[in-house]
Amino acid sequence: MQNHTLPGSTRPEALRPATLCVRSARAHASGDPLVPPIVRSSIFVCDDATYAERAAGRGDRARCYTRENNPTLEAVEERLARLEGAERALAFASGQAALHALLMAALERGQRVVVFRQIYGGTIDLLKRLCPKLDVELALVEVNDLEALARHCDGRLRLVVCESLSNPLTAVADLPRVAELLRARAPNALLAVDATLASPVAQTPLALGADVLWHSATKYLGGHSDLIGGVVAGRVPFLHEVWSWRTKAGGCMDPDPAYLMDRGLRTLALRVAAHSANALSVARFLEGHARVERVHYCGLASHPQHALARALLRYTGGLLSFVVRGGDGAALALIRRLELFSEAASLGGVESLASRPRDLSQVALSEGERAAAGLAPGLVRLSVGIEDAADLVADLAQALA
Ligand code: PLP
Repeated sequence: MQNHTLPGSTRPEALRPATLCVRSARAHASGDPLVPPIVRSSIFVCDDATYAERAAGRGDRARCYTRENNPTLEAVEERLARLEGAERALAFASGQAALHALLMAALERGQRVVVFRQIYGGTIDLLKRLCPKLDVELALVEVNDLEALARHCDGRLRLVVCESLSNPLTAVADLPRVAELLRARAPNALLAVDATLASPVAQTPLALGADVLWHSATKYLGGHSDLIGGVVAGRVPFLHEVWSWRTKAGGCMDPDPAYLMDRGLRTLALRVAAHSANALSVARFLEGHARVERVHYCGLASHPQHALARALLRYTGGLLSFVVRGGDGAALALIRRLELFSEAASLGGVESLASRPRDLSQVALSEGERAAAGLAPGLVRLSVGIEDAADLVADLAQALA
């Protein structure tokens, strides 16, 4: 993994996440732009050196065609790789495009994928559609059920898929213990983590034993609900295969959102701290409210994995969910009475959002699958923004009254 000192510096000490967010991964010479420019050119002038690089399998570094590589993408990929402690990061057109390339790079016919059941519905949906086409077995287990996972550990197990922090119940994946089990029982298997909800400011999964991670950059990395993007990060041999699938299938990020993502990353540490503090205030308020049956937020002492969250996460993030008394009808009525929370999809932007998972994030799941994943009737998901926490609590209070 890379060392996180300042480029060109003689000081050996590692830099902390907030500094890595702000400082570029590159040393600058006199006259260089401090902010990476948007290079919209789809083509770059080629010569024999370009052809030699490509022929030697280094097409990911050669400047030739933006579907393969582009300077604006390189800048944001380097910043994110340093933040994640990864050898390489690659930017994609969306989180789903990132996951798709990761799966294509990892899987061969006849292998098996095990997924923790509580996970973004779109991930399950993609796996359910792709695995049968690749003749890959798909098995779902409960979060951190190591006994169930151990039963799937054999030479066929290739991928274990989980979320560092799950959407929408904020279950915390026990990455060190899962990684240890795989090392002992299925050394050919990769632990692949959707790191979207925690963000690299709260947790770097590679340091906890994950082999590869991906993000929906649409969420906290961008942070302003104005881009769609994704990232895969990890070690070089595997990431080269991911790059190869990005190039073949054409899922690369465009330079304009890459610029926006790089700008978003510079304030990521500040935003994650603010989102997390606000979410905790909101969660505490909801927990004490008579019309609320249950609050799911791993920052609360009542969450089943609160201790694990304290051990594995620096921040507990801005996403939480709660069950309102009266079922799904009451949940929708409540959402529509909110004035500061917009009824919208996605999460991780500066503005607060509210939705029912059954309408948006978990719509791809059947009623039975939602019940099995612990999503009770009356569930409301909040993406808590960075507004003043007192205003957000007052809004929830009036909507619940
Ligand atoms: N992972 C999580 C946790 C998500 O919530 C989402 C989208 O909501 C995705 C991945 C997919 O990302 P995208 O919408 O950028 O394709």
